Amino acid sequence: MRYSAFSLLAQAFRGHKGWTPAWRDPEPKAEYDVIIIGGGGHGLATAHYLASRHDITNVAVLEKGYLGSGNVGRNTTIIRSNYLLPGNTPFYELSMKLWEGLEQDLNYNAMVSQRGVINLYHSDAQRDAFARRGNAMRLAGVDSELLGQEQVRAMLPYLDYDNARFPVQGGLLQRRGGSARHDAVAWGYARAADSRGVDMLQNCEVTGITMVGGRAVGVETSRGPIRAKKIAMAVAGNSGRVAAMAGLRLPIETHVLQAFVSEGLKPLIDTVVTFGAGHFYISQSDKGGLVFGGDIDGYNSYAQRGNLPVIEDVMESAMALWPGLGRVRMLRHWGGVMDMSMDGSPIIDTTPVDGLYLNSGWCYGGFKATPASGFCFAHLIATGEPHPVAAAYRLDRFATGRLIDEKGAGAQPNLH
Ligand SMILES: Cc1cc2nc3c(=O)[nH]c(=O)nc-3n(C[C@H](O)[C@H](O)[C@H](O)COP(=O)(O)OP(=O)(O)OC[C@H]3O[C@@H](n4cnc5c(N)ncnc54)[C@H](O)[C@@H]3O)c2cc1C
Repeated sequence: MRYSAFSLLAQAFRGHKGWTPAWRDPEPKAEYDVIIIGGGGHGLATAHYLASRHDITNVAVLEKGYLGSGNVGRNTTIIRSNYLLPGNTPFYELSMKLWEGLEQDLNYNAMVSQRGVINLYHSDAQRDAFARRGNAMRLAGVDSELLGQEQVRAMLPYLDYDNARFPVQGGLLQRRGGSARHDAVAWGYARAADSRGVDMLQNCEVTGITMVGGRAVGVETSRGPIRAKKIAMAVAGNSGRVAAMAGLRLPIETHVLQAFVSEGLKPLIDTVVTFGAGHFYISQSDKGGLVFGGDIDGYNSYAQRGNLPVIEDVMESAMALWPGLGRVRMLRHWGGVMDMSMDGSPIIDTTPVDGLYLNSGWCYGGFKATPASGFCFAHLIATGEPHPVAAAYRLDRFATGRLIDEKGAGAQPNLH
Protein backbone atom coordinates (compact mmCIF):
# COMPACT_ATOMS: atom_id res chain seq x y z
CA MET A 1 0.00 0.00 0.00
CA ARG A 2 1.51 3.29 -1.10
CA TYR A 3 1.14 6.27 1.24
CA SER A 4 0.27 9.64 -0.31
CA ALA A 5 -1.97 12.65 0.22
CA PHE A 6 -4.41 10.96 -2.13
CA SER A 7 -4.46 7.67 -0.15
CA LEU A 8 -4.98 9.66 3.08
CA LEU A 9 -7.94 11.47 1.53
CA ALA A 10 -9.38 8.25 0.12
CA GLN A 11 -9.12 6.56 3.54
CA ALA A 12 -10.70 9.58 5.23
CA PHE A 13 -13.79 9.12 3.04
CA ARG A 14 -13.91 5.41 4.04
CA GLY A 15 -13.68 6.13 7.77
CA HIS A 16 -10.04 4.98 7.82
CA LYS A 17 -11.20 1.36 7.64
CA GLY A 18 -9.05 0.35 4.67
CA TRP A 19 -5.52 0.71 6.10
CA THR A 20 -3.53 -2.53 5.92
CA PRO A 21 -0.81 -3.61 8.41
CA ALA A 22 2.55 -1.99 7.68
CA TRP A 23 4.24 -5.40 7.53
CA ARG A 24 3.22 -9.08 7.49
CA ASP A 25 3.58 -11.47 10.44
CA PRO A 26 4.95 -14.58 8.68
CA GLU A 27 5.98 -17.96 10.07
CA PRO A 28 9.76 -18.58 9.86
CA LYS A 29 10.94 -20.48 6.79
CA ALA A 30 13.37 -23.37 7.22
CA GLU A 31 16.16 -21.48 5.40
CA TYR A 32 17.04 -17.97 4.19
CA ASP A 33 19.86 -16.54 2.11
CA VAL A 34 20.51 -13.97 4.86
CA ILE A 35 19.40 -13.84 8.48
CA ILE A 36 19.76 -10.53 10.28
CA ILE A 37 19.76 -10.84 14.06
CA GLY A 38 18.27 -7.69 15.64
CA GLY A 39 15.21 -5.72 14.55
CA GLY A 40 16.60 -2.33 15.53
CA GLY A 41 17.38 0.51 13.17
CA HIS A 42 20.56 -1.03 11.80
CA GLY A 43 19.13 -4.51 11.21
CA LEU A 44 16.02 -3.15 9.51
CA ALA A 45 18.02 -0.70 7.38
CA THR A 46 20.33 -3.54 6.33
CA ALA A 47 17.31 -5.60 5.24
CA HIS A 48 15.92 -2.69 3.23
CA TYR A 49 19.18 -1.98 1.41
CA LEU A 50 19.86 -5.71 0.76
CA ALA A 51 16.45 -5.93 -0.90
CA SER A 52 16.33 -2.55 -2.64
CA ARG A 53 19.99 -2.10 -3.70
CA HIS A 54 21.21 -5.70 -4.11
CA ASP A 55 17.98 -7.54 -4.97
CA ILE A 56 18.54 -10.01 -2.13
CA THR A 57 15.06 -10.62 -0.76
CA ASN A 58 15.16 -14.12 0.76
CA VAL A 59 16.01 -12.42 4.05
CA ALA A 60 14.63 -12.58 7.61
CA VAL A 61 15.06 -10.08 10.43
CA LEU A 62 14.95 -11.92 13.79
CA GLU A 63 13.92 -9.74 16.72
CA LYS A 64 13.63 -11.06 20.26
CA GLY A 65 10.99 -8.50 21.24
CA TYR A 66 8.97 -6.26 18.94
CA LEU A 67 10.52 -4.23 16.11
CA GLY A 68 12.02 -1.03 17.50
CA SER A 69 11.99 -2.18 21.14
CA GLY A 70 15.72 -1.57 21.51
CA ASN A 71 17.78 1.59 21.26
CA VAL A 72 16.23 2.71 17.99
CA GLY A 73 13.05 3.45 19.94
CA ARG A 74 14.88 4.79 23.01
CA ASN A 75 17.28 7.37 21.67
CA THR A 76 17.14 11.16 21.66
CA THR A 77 16.90 11.26 17.84
CA ILE A 78 19.81 13.55 16.99
CA ILE A 79 21.29 13.25 13.51
CA ARG A 80 24.46 15.04 12.39
CA SER A 81 27.69 14.49 10.45
CA ASN A 82 30.01 16.87 12.32
CA TYR A 83 32.96 14.49 12.69
CA LEU A 84 36.67 15.29 12.56
CA LEU A 85 38.53 12.13 11.55
CA PRO A 86 38.85 10.88 7.95
CA GLY A 87 37.61 7.37 8.93
CA ASN A 88 34.37 8.87 10.22
CA THR A 89 33.50 11.99 8.18
CA PRO A 90 32.61 10.38 4.81
CA PHE A 91 30.58 7.65 6.50
CA TYR A 92 28.46 10.05 8.56
CA GLU A 93 28.06 12.38 5.59
CA LEU A 94 26.75 9.47 3.51
CA SER A 95 24.32 8.86 6.35
CA MET A 96 23.22 12.51 6.30
CA LYS A 97 22.63 12.35 2.55
CA LEU A 98 20.58 9.17 2.97
CA TRP A 99 18.55 10.90 5.73
CA GLU A 100 17.86 13.74 3.31
CA GLY A 101 16.22 11.36 0.82
CA LEU A 102 14.93 8.77 3.29
CA GLU A 103 11.24 9.61 3.31
CA GLN A 104 11.01 9.41 -0.48
CA ASP A 105 13.05 6.19 -0.51
CA LEU A 106 10.84 4.53 2.13
CA ASN A 107 7.54 6.24 1.22
CA TYR A 108 7.22 6.90 4.96
CA ASN A 109 7.16 10.03 7.10
CA ALA A 110 10.19 9.67 9.38
CA MET A 111 9.83 13.31 10.45
CA VAL A 112 13.40 14.17 9.42
CA SER A 113 13.90 17.73 10.65
CA GLN A 114 17.08 19.59 9.67
CA ARG A 115 16.78 22.12 12.47
CA GLY A 116 20.54 22.42 13.06
CA VAL A 117 22.93 21.17 15.76
CA ILE A 118 25.04 23.65 17.76
CA ASN A 119 28.01 22.49 19.84
CA LEU A 120 28.76 25.29 22.33
CA TYR A 121 32.30 26.28 23.24
CA HIS A 122 33.31 27.89 26.51
CA SER A 123 37.03 28.72 26.20
CA ASP A 124 39.56 29.88 23.62
CA ALA A 125 41.12 26.42 23.47
CA GLN A 126 37.75 24.81 22.86
CA ARG A 127 36.97 27.37 20.15
CA ASP A 128 40.23 26.45 18.40
CA ALA A 129 39.43 22.75 18.59
CA PHE A 130 35.95 23.40 17.17
CA ALA A 131 37.39 25.59 14.41
CA ARG A 132 39.69 22.72 13.47
CA ARG A 133 36.77 20.28 13.37
CA GLY A 134 34.66 22.74 11.36
CA ASN A 135 37.49 23.21 8.85
CA ALA A 136 38.00 19.44 8.53
CA MET A 137 34.27 19.09 7.86
CA ARG A 138 34.31 21.79 5.17
CA LEU A 139 37.34 20.19 3.51
CA ALA A 140 35.33 16.96 3.37
CA GLY A 141 32.36 18.76 1.81
CA VAL A 142 30.27 18.89 5.01
CA ASP A 143 28.56 22.13 6.06
CA SER A 144 29.76 23.87 9.24
CA GLU A 145 29.74 27.41 10.65
CA LEU A 146 31.73 28.75 13.59
CA LEU A 147 29.51 31.20 15.48
CA GLY A 148 30.52 33.89 17.95
CA GLN A 149 28.64 34.63 21.16
CA GLU A 150 26.29 37.22 19.65
CA GLN A 151 25.24 34.89 16.84
CA VAL A 152 24.47 32.11 19.32
CA ARG A 153 22.66 34.57 21.63
CA ALA A 154 20.41 35.62 18.74
CA MET A 155 19.39 31.97 18.24
CA LEU A 156 19.24 30.91 21.91
CA PRO A 157 18.57 34.02 24.03
CA TYR A 158 17.66 32.14 27.23
CA LEU A 159 21.04 30.44 27.89
CA ASP A 160 23.27 31.69 30.72
CA TYR A 161 26.02 33.41 28.70
CA ASP A 162 27.81 35.02 31.63
CA ASN A 163 27.96 32.00 33.90
CA ALA A 164 31.23 32.57 35.80
CA ARG A 165 32.41 28.96 35.41
CA PHE A 166 31.22 28.16 31.90
CA PRO A 167 30.62 31.37 29.93
CA VAL A 168 29.22 30.58 26.48
CA GLN A 169 31.67 32.03 23.94
CA GLY A 170 30.08 30.66 20.76
CA GLY A 171 29.32 27.46 18.93
CA LEU A 172 29.97 25.21 15.96
CA LEU A 173 26.79 24.93 13.92
CA GLN A 174 25.85 22.26 11.41
CA ARG A 175 22.60 23.51 9.87
CA ARG A 176 21.89 20.23 8.05
CA GLY A 177 21.95 18.33 11.36
CA GLY A 178 18.77 17.95 13.40
CA SER A 179 16.50 15.11 14.42
CA ALA A 180 14.21 12.37 13.08
CA ARG A 181 11.32 10.49 14.67
CA HIS A 182 13.16 7.43 16.03
CA ASP A 183 10.50 4.73 15.95
CA ALA A 184 9.12 5.96 12.62
CA VAL A 185 12.58 5.23 11.21
CA ALA A 186 12.31 1.62 12.39
CA TRP A 187 8.73 1.29 11.11
CA GLY A 188 9.59 2.89 7.76
CA TYR A 189 12.53 0.56 7.12
CA ALA A 190 10.51 -2.48 8.26
CA ARG A 191 7.60 -1.62 5.98
CA ALA A 192 9.86 -0.97 2.98
CA ALA A 193 11.81 -4.21 3.46
CA ASP A 194 8.62 -6.22 4.00
CA SER A 195 7.15 -4.85 0.79
CA ARG A 196 10.08 -6.42 -1.09
CA GLY A 197 9.54 -9.81 0.56
CA VAL A 198 11.78 -9.66 3.67
CA ASP A 199 10.27 -11.59 6.63
CA MET A 200 10.01 -9.72 9.95
CA LEU A 201 10.10 -12.38 12.67
CA GLN A 202 9.17 -10.77 16.00
CA ASN A 203 9.33 -12.53 19.37
CA CYS A 204 12.07 -14.64 17.81
CA GLU A 205 15.08 -14.65 20.11
CA VAL A 206 18.32 -16.13 18.82
CA THR A 207 19.59 -18.49 21.52
CA GLY A 208 22.41 -20.20 19.65
CA ILE A 209 24.45 -20.10 16.45
CA THR A 210 24.79 -23.42 14.64
CA MET A 211 28.33 -24.12 13.45
CA VAL A 212 29.50 -26.79 11.01
CA GLY A 213 33.23 -27.09 10.37
CA GLY A 214 33.94 -23.58 11.71
CA ARG A 215 31.20 -22.02 9.57
CA ALA A 216 27.98 -20.44 10.86
CA VAL A 217 25.15 -22.22 9.04
CA GLY A 218 22.07 -21.32 11.06
CA VAL A 219 20.59 -20.15 14.32
CA GLU A 220 18.63 -21.68 17.18
CA THR A 221 15.68 -19.48 18.09
CA SER A 222 12.70 -19.38 20.42
CA ARG A 223 10.64 -20.16 17.27
CA GLY A 224 12.80 -23.12 16.21
CA PRO A 225 16.01 -23.62 14.22
CA ILE A 226 16.54 -21.64 10.98
CA ARG A 227 19.31 -22.27 8.44
CA ALA A 228 21.02 -19.46 6.52
CA LYS A 229 23.82 -18.95 4.01
CA LYS A 230 24.85 -15.73 5.75
CA ILE A 231 24.16 -14.52 9.29
CA ALA A 232 24.46 -10.82 10.17
CA MET A 233 24.54 -9.54 13.76
CA ALA A 234 23.06 -6.08 14.43
CA VAL A 235 22.14 -6.39 18.10
CA ALA A 236 23.76 -3.21 19.51
CA GLY A 237 24.04 -3.58 23.33
CA ASN A 238 23.67 -7.35 23.08
CA SER A 239 26.61 -7.78 20.68
CA GLY A 240 28.87 -9.44 23.25
CA ARG A 241 26.20 -11.95 24.23
CA VAL A 242 25.25 -12.95 20.66
CA ALA A 243 28.88 -13.07 19.42
CA ALA A 244 29.71 -15.38 22.35
CA MET A 245 27.24 -17.89 20.84
CA ALA A 246 29.75 -18.28 18.00
CA GLY A 247 32.72 -18.36 20.37
CA LEU A 248 33.77 -14.75 19.71
CA ARG A 249 34.89 -12.23 22.33
CA LEU A 250 34.41 -8.66 21.07
CA PRO A 251 36.23 -5.40 21.96
CA ILE A 252 32.86 -4.09 23.18
CA GLU A 253 31.49 -3.23 26.64
CA THR A 254 27.79 -2.74 27.31
CA HIS A 255 26.81 0.37 29.29
CA VAL A 256 23.50 2.06 30.16
CA LEU A 257 22.56 5.46 28.71
CA GLN A 258 19.55 7.37 29.99
CA ALA A 259 17.30 9.95 28.31
CA PHE A 260 14.81 12.42 29.75
CA VAL A 261 11.67 14.22 28.59
CA SER A 262 9.96 17.18 30.24
CA GLU A 263 6.28 18.06 30.30
CA GLY A 264 5.00 19.52 27.01
CA LEU A 265 5.83 23.21 26.54
CA LYS A 266 5.20 25.82 23.89
CA PRO A 267 7.98 26.13 21.27
CA LEU A 268 11.15 27.17 23.12
CA ILE A 269 14.14 25.81 21.28
CA ASP A 270 14.18 25.22 17.52
CA THR A 271 17.58 23.57 17.20
CA VAL A 272 19.69 20.94 18.99
CA VAL A 273 22.20 22.30 21.52
CA THR A 274 25.10 20.56 23.22
CA PHE A 275 26.82 21.99 26.28
CA GLY A 276 30.60 22.09 25.85
CA ALA A 277 31.55 22.13 29.53
CA GLY A 278 29.82 18.93 30.54
CA HIS A 279 27.95 16.14 28.81
CA PHE A 280 24.48 17.58 28.22
CA TYR A 281 22.38 18.10 25.10
CA ILE A 282 18.82 19.27 24.54
CA SER A 283 16.18 19.73 21.85
CA GLN A 284 12.39 19.94 21.74
CA SER A 285 10.11 17.30 20.29
CA ASP A 286 7.20 18.13 18.02
CA LYS A 287 4.87 17.32 20.93
CA GLY A 288 6.57 20.05 22.99
CA GLY A 289 8.58 17.97 25.46
CA LEU A 290 12.19 18.99 26.02
CA VAL A 291 14.31 15.93 25.18
CA PHE A 292 17.70 15.79 26.85
CA GLY A 293 20.47 13.54 28.03
CA GLY A 294 24.06 13.30 29.18
CA ASP A 295 26.66 10.72 30.16
CA ILE A 296 26.38 6.95 30.27
CA ASP A 297 25.94 5.52 33.76
CA GLY A 298 29.56 4.35 33.75
CA TYR A 299 29.22 0.70 34.77
CA ASN A 300 28.65 -2.42 32.69
CA SER A 301 25.05 -3.58 32.55
CA TYR A 302 22.44 -5.16 30.27
CA ALA A 303 19.59 -3.54 32.25
CA GLN A 304 17.51 -1.09 30.20
CA ARG A 305 17.25 1.34 33.09
CA GLY A 306 19.66 3.73 34.80
CA ASN A 307 20.47 5.12 38.20
CA LEU A 308 20.10 8.35 40.18
CA PRO A 309 23.67 9.80 40.11
CA VAL A 310 23.48 10.38 36.34
CA ILE A 311 20.06 12.00 36.70
CA GLU A 312 21.59 14.48 39.16
CA ASP A 313 24.59 15.03 36.89
CA VAL A 314 22.40 15.74 33.84
CA MET A 315 20.16 18.15 35.78
CA GLU A 316 23.22 20.03 37.12
CA SER A 317 24.50 20.53 33.58
CA ALA A 318 21.04 21.62 32.47
CA MET A 319 20.87 24.24 35.21
CA ALA A 320 24.40 25.51 34.49
CA LEU A 321 23.52 26.11 30.84
CA TRP A 322 19.86 27.13 31.05
CA PRO A 323 18.81 28.13 34.60
CA GLY A 324 15.17 28.61 33.53
CA LEU A 325 14.88 24.82 33.19
CA GLY A 326 14.65 24.67 36.99
CA ARG A 327 10.97 25.61 36.63
CA VAL A 328 10.23 22.74 34.23
CA ARG A 329 8.89 19.37 35.42
CA MET A 330 10.55 16.22 34.17
CA LEU A 331 7.95 13.80 32.85
CA ARG A 332 9.78 10.54 32.26
CA HIS A 333 13.16 8.96 31.73
CA TRP A 334 14.43 5.60 30.53
CA GLY A 335 17.62 3.74 29.61
CA GLY A 336 19.07 1.75 26.75
CA VAL A 337 22.08 -0.57 26.50
CA MET A 338 24.96 0.80 24.46
CA ASP A 339 27.59 -1.19 22.58
CA MET A 340 30.64 0.86 23.60
CA SER A 341 33.74 0.10 21.53
CA MET A 342 37.30 0.67 22.74
CA ASP A 343 37.90 3.67 20.44
CA GLY A 344 34.35 5.04 20.28
CA SER A 345 33.93 4.09 16.60
CA PRO A 346 31.84 1.30 15.09
CA ILE A 347 32.63 -2.05 13.48
CA ILE A 348 31.12 -3.16 10.14
CA ASP A 349 33.03 -6.25 9.13
CA THR A 350 33.27 -9.97 8.56
CA THR A 351 34.35 -12.05 11.56
CA PRO A 352 36.82 -14.90 12.03
CA VAL A 353 33.77 -17.22 11.73
CA ASP A 354 32.87 -17.92 8.08
CA GLY A 355 29.39 -16.76 7.17
CA LEU A 356 29.06 -14.49 10.23
CA TYR A 357 29.03 -10.69 9.81
CA LEU A 358 29.26 -8.03 12.51
CA ASN A 359 27.68 -4.58 12.87
CA SER A 360 28.40 -3.11 16.31
CA GLY A 361 30.25 -0.56 18.46
CA TRP A 362 27.82 2.32 17.88
CA CYS A 363 28.26 3.67 21.40
CA TYR A 364 25.61 6.34 21.98
CA GLY A 365 25.79 7.75 18.46
CA GLY A 366 24.33 5.00 16.32
CA PHE A 367 20.94 6.49 15.50
CA LYS A 368 22.38 9.10 13.13
CA ALA A 369 24.36 6.29 11.50
CA THR A 370 21.32 4.08 10.83
CA PRO A 371 20.98 4.71 7.06
CA ALA A 372 24.71 4.47 6.24
CA SER A 373 25.20 1.55 8.59
CA GLY A 374 22.47 -0.44 6.86
CA PHE A 375 23.70 0.68 3.43
CA CYS A 376 27.32 -0.33 4.08
CA PHE A 377 26.47 -3.54 5.97
CA ALA A 378 24.22 -4.63 3.08
CA HIS A 379 27.09 -3.85 0.67
CA LEU A 380 29.48 -6.01 2.72
CA ILE A 381 27.03 -8.92 3.00
CA ALA A 382 26.11 -8.80 -0.70
CA THR A 383 29.57 -8.27 -2.20
CA GLY A 384 31.96 -9.58 0.45
CA GLU A 385 33.86 -6.27 0.23
CA PRO A 386 33.65 -3.33 2.65
CA HIS A 387 31.91 -0.24 1.29
CA PRO A 388 34.61 2.45 0.66
CA VAL A 389 33.20 4.88 3.28
CA ALA A 390 33.13 2.15 5.94
CA ALA A 391 36.52 0.70 5.03
CA ALA A 392 38.10 1.88 8.30
CA TYR A 393 35.55 0.11 10.51
CA ARG A 394 37.47 -3.17 10.65
CA LEU A 395 37.34 -5.54 13.60
CA ASP A 396 41.10 -6.14 13.53
CA ARG A 397 41.97 -2.45 14.04
CA PHE A 398 42.09 -3.10 17.79
CA ALA A 399 44.93 -5.57 17.14
CA THR A 400 46.71 -3.57 14.42
CA GLY A 401 46.46 -0.23 16.24
CA ARG A 402 44.57 1.61 13.45
CA LEU A 403 42.11 3.09 15.93
CA ILE A 404 39.60 5.82 15.07
CA ASP A 405 39.57 7.65 18.39
CA GLU A 406 37.42 10.70 17.55
CA LYS A 407 37.54 11.98 21.14
CA GLY A 408 41.14 11.04 21.92
CA ALA A 409 39.95 9.28 25.08
CA GLY A 410 42.00 6.10 24.66
CA ALA A 411 40.76 2.57 25.22
CA GLN A 412 38.23 3.70 27.82
CA PRO A 413 34.71 2.87 26.62
CA ASN A 414 33.15 4.71 29.55
CA LEU A 415 34.73 7.96 28.25
CA HIS A 416 33.68 7.76 24.61
C1 LIG B 1 19.00 7.07 25.75
C2 LIG B 1 19.69 6.99 24.42
C3 LIG B 1 19.89 8.13 23.67
C4 LIG B 1 20.53 8.07 22.43
N1 LIG B 1 20.63 9.20 21.67
C5 LIG B 1 21.16 9.13 20.43
C6 LIG B 1 21.17 10.28 19.59
O1 LIG B 1 20.62 11.33 19.95
N2 LIG B 1 21.75 10.20 18.36
C7 LIG B 1 22.33 9.04 17.94
O2 LIG B 1 22.87 9.04 16.84
N3 LIG B 1 22.30 7.91 18.69
C8 LIG B 1 21.72 7.93 19.93
N4 LIG B 1 21.66 6.80 20.70
C9 LIG B 1 22.31 5.56 20.21
C10 LIG B 1 21.45 4.78 19.24
O3 LIG B 1 20.12 4.67 19.72
C11 LIG B 1 22.05 3.39 19.04
O4 LIG B 1 23.44 3.49 18.78
C12 LIG B 1 21.42 2.64 17.86
O5 LIG B 1 20.01 2.71 17.95
C13 LIG B 1 21.89 1.19 17.90
O6 LIG B 1 21.50 0.48 16.75
P1 LIG B 1 20.09 -0.26 16.58
O7 LIG B 1 19.05 0.75 16.32
O8 LIG B 1 20.20 -1.32 15.57
O9 LIG B 1 19.92 -0.91 18.04
P2 LIG B 1 18.67 -1.55 18.74
O10 LIG B 1 17.42 -0.81 18.45
O11 LIG B 1 19.03 -1.75 20.17
O12 LIG B 1 18.56 -2.96 17.99
C14 LIG B 1 19.14 -4.17 18.40
C15 LIG B 1 18.02 -5.19 18.50
O13 LIG B 1 18.56 -6.48 18.67
C16 LIG B 1 17.63 -7.22 19.44
N5 LIG B 1 18.31 -8.39 19.99
C17 LIG B 1 19.30 -8.41 20.92
N6 LIG B 1 19.65 -9.67 21.18
C18 LIG B 1 18.90 -10.47 20.38
C19 LIG B 1 18.79 -11.87 20.20
N7 LIG B 1 19.55 -12.73 20.90
N8 LIG B 1 17.90 -12.37 19.29
C20 LIG B 1 17.11 -11.50 18.56
N9 LIG B 1 17.16 -10.15 18.72
C21 LIG B 1 18.04 -9.66 19.62
C22 LIG B 1 17.19 -6.22 20.49
O14 LIG B 1 15.96 -6.60 21.09
C23 LIG B 1 17.09 -4.93 19.68
O15 LIG B 1 15.78 -4.68 19.22
C24 LIG B 1 21.01 6.83 21.95
C25 LIG B 1 20.78 5.66 22.69
C26 LIG B 1 20.11 5.73 23.90
C27 LIG B 1 19.84 4.47 24.69
